[in-house]
Amino acid sequence: MAEFSNIDIKFLAGVGPKRAEILKKEAGIATYEDLLHYYPYKYIDRSKTYKISEIDGNFPYIQIEGEIIKFEEVGTGRAKRLCAIFTDGTGIVELVWFQGAKYIADRYSLRTRYTVFGKPALYGNKVTIAHPEIDKPESINDKQCSLQGYYGTTETMKRKFLNSKAISRIIDNLFKSLRAPIYETLSVDVVQKCNLININDALRNIHFPKSNEDLKRASFRLKFEELFYIQLNILRYMKLRERSLNGFKFPCVGNLVNTFYKESLPFELTGAQKRVIKEIRADMGSGKQMNRLLQGDVGSGKTLVAVMSMLIAADNGYQACIMAPTEILATQHYENIKRLLSNIDVRIALLTGSTKKSERDRIDEELRNGTLNFIVGTHALIEESVVFKNLGFVVIDEQHRFGVEQRSKLWKKNSQPPHILVMTATPIPRTLAMTLYGDLDVSIIDELPPGRKPISTILRFDTGAAKVYEGIRKQLQAGRQAYIVYPLIKESEKSDLKNLEEGYELLKKIFKEYNVCMIHGKMKSAEKDAEMQKFASGEAAIMVATTVIEVGVDVPNASVMVIENAERFGLAQLHQLRGRVGRGAEQSYCILKASHKLSSDSRKRLDIMCKTNDGFEIAEADLKLRGPGDMEGTQQSGMAFNLRIANITRDSQILQLARDTANDILDEDPDLSMPTHLILKIKLDKLFKRIVNFGLVG
Ligand code: ADP
Ligand code: MG
Repeated sequence: MAEFSNIDIKFLAGVGPKRAEILKKEAGIATYEDLLHYYPYKYIDRSKTYKISEIDGNFPYIQIEGEIIKFEEVGTGRAKRLCAIFTDGTGIVELVWFQGAKYIADRYSLRTRYTVFGKPALYGNKVTIAHPEIDKPESINDKQCSLQGYYGTTETMKRKFLNSKAISRIIDNLFKSLRAPIYETLSVDVVQKCNLININDALRNIHFPKSNEDLKRASFRLKFEELFYIQLNILRYMKLRERSLNGFKFPCVGNLVNTFYKESLPFELTGAQKRVIKEIRADMGSGKQMNRLLQGDVGSGKTLVAVMSMLIAADNGYQACIMAPTEILATQHYENIKRLLSNIDVRIALLTGSTKKSERDRIDEELRNGTLNFIVGTHALIEESVVFKNLGFVVIDEQHRFGVEQRSKLWKKNSQPPHILVMTATPIPRTLAMTLYGDLDVSIIDELPPGRKPISTILRFDTGAAKVYEGIRKQLQAGRQAYIVYPLIKESEKSDLKNLEEGYELLKKIFKEYNVCMIHGKMKSAEKDAEMQKFASGEAAIMVATTVIEVGVDVPNASVMVIENAERFGLAQLHQLRGRVGRGAEQSYCILKASHKLSSDSRKRLDIMCKTNDGFEIAEADLKLRGPGDMEGTQQSGMAFNLRIANITRDSQILQLARDTANDILDEDPDLSMPTHLILKIKLDKLFKRIVNFGLVG
C-alpha cells in the first residue's frame, strides 16, 4: 500500500473540494490519516430491532422495521413540518422532519421496507421520532456492524449534510479504497508484549465494531499507543539528560544552613518539609542535575524549603535565585526571605520590572562579581542582561504561570545548568503529573504546619448577602481582616470592572468605620503595591480584589474570603483563593456567593469546595469534571495535549503500562537505534517535531 497518510481528503469518494474545506475547518480533518483517527465519541447498539408495540418510555434510542403508509405536511410558518406515518403491523409511529421536507419525500417511497432508527418521544399514546435515520434493511445487515459509532459534528457541518452518518459513510469509503492493510505503527516487541491487536484491526474496529469485545480491544490498543508515544518522548529526553549532563555537586551542608537551622528557624519543620529537604539535598549532592517538582498545597510551607535549599547552594559557593510570576509575589517573597535570613551572612536583592535603573545597575554588578548570593525576582531575571557569577540553584514558584521556554532560559545562565526546583501549589493528580511533567522528579508536602484550623466553607446565594455582611463584621470586630473577590474575565471586562467598583463603593458604605482598599490587574503596579501595603499592614480591614491576589499573597491576619459569583471560577482557582485565608491560628471562613440559577457542573464544583480542603482531592475532582485539556498548566506545558481517545482520569492503568513499556525499551535501547525500534523513532520524530523540548539544553 502506498503512503496514504498525507493524501488530501478531497480525493476520497463522497468528499470533494467543498466538503473537504468544511471538514478541514470544522473538524481539523485534512488527510486520510486525520480521518482514520477521527474516532466516534459514542456507540449505539443496533443489533436488535424492536416491535412498535414494545416501545415505552425507557428507550433512549430504538430501531424498528416497517413501511411508510403516507406523508403529510402539517402546521404553518415556523411550525411547518413533514410527517410520515410508519407501521410494522404492531402499531404506528410518526416520523417528523422540521427541515428538508422536499428532499425526504423524494428520497423515500411508500410501501418499501425500511429500518428506522432514532430517539422515540411519547405524547400520550402517540410515539414520534424526529429526524430519524432511515436505511434499507439490507444495507444495515450488510455491514454487520451492530454498534454504530457517532461522530462529533458542528452546526456548519450538519447544514452541509456532513452529519455523523455521512462521516461514517466516508470512513467506510476510505477503508474500501485501501488495497492493503494499514502499516503497523508500533514495534513488534511492544505489540506482542502488551498483547495488542494490530493497527489495521484497531482502526477498523474503532469505527465499525462488530461486538463490544472488538470495540474494547480496539480502544485499548489506540489509547495505549497515544499514551505510549507521549511517555516515550518524555522519557527519552529525561534519559538523555541524565546521561549527558553533569550537575553541580554540593557536597557540604555548611555553616549557613546549620546556623539558620539552629538559630533562625522560627518554628519546627514539619515532617514533610524535612523529608523534602532531604530529597533535595540528596539530588544536589549526587552529581546529577536536579529537576524536581515540589507540590504542596497552599500554606504548606514551600518557601521555607526553598530557602533552606538556597542556603545549601550558598554553603557550596554558588548563587541562587527564586523567580515568581507576579511583582506582588516576588516582593513578598523577598520581604519574607530577607526577614528569615536577617541573622545569616548572605546578601539578597529584589529584581522586577520596576526596579530603578541605578539599583538595577548595582544588582547587575553584584551578580557578576558574586557579592550577591541570592536574588528574588519576576521574569526580569530571565533577561539576557542578567548575568551571574556562578548560578547553582534556581527556584521557580507557581510553575503553571511560566512557559516552557522561560524555564529553559534559566538553564542557560551558567556553563552547566543549575539545579532546578519548580514549586506549585496547584496539586496535580499523579496520572496527570506523569504525563505533563514526566521528566521531573516529584516531591510532595502532604502535611500542613501544626495548629491550622481547617477553613470552613459556606455556599450562600445572592439573597443571603445581609448574613454575609454580618459575618464579616463579626470578624472585623475581632480584629481580623477580609478579602472580597470579584471575577474579572477578559470577555466581560467592562461589566466586571463595573461590578468590582460598585462592590467597592457599597462595602465602603456598609463598613464605614473601617478602611477598604482595592486592587485589580488594570492598576499600575505602584498603585497596586500601595493598596496591598495598606492591607498587609492592617491599615485597611477589607480588601476588594480580583484574582490578582490568587497567587501566594500572605496576610495571616485575614480570616474571611468572600468570593462573589463563585460559579464563574474554576475549582483550582477557588482553591487558590481560599488558600489566602486560614494562614494564622484563627478559625477562617470562605464564603462562596452564587446566583440561584446554577448549572449542575457549577453546583458540583461549589459542593466539592464546601466538602473538602484537600487540594489533591479537589484536583482529582477538577480533572474529572473538566478533563485534562483545561487544567491549568496544560496549555503552557509545551506538550501536545490533544488526547484523541485516552482519558487521563479513566485510563490510568493503561498510562502506567505505557510508561513502563516505554521505560523498558529505552533502558535496552536508549537511542532507539535497534532495527526493531526504527518504527518508534520515525513515529516519535513525526509526532513531536514541532514541540519545544524543555528537557533538552540548547
Ligand atoms: P506555600 O506553600 O503556600 O508557599 P508558605 O511557604 O507561604 O506556603 O507558608 C505559609 C505559612 O506557613 C507562612 O506564614 C510560613 O511562615 C508558615 N510556615 C511554614 N512552615 C511552617 C512550619 N513548619 N511551622 C509553622 N509555620 C510554618
Ligand atoms: Mg507560596
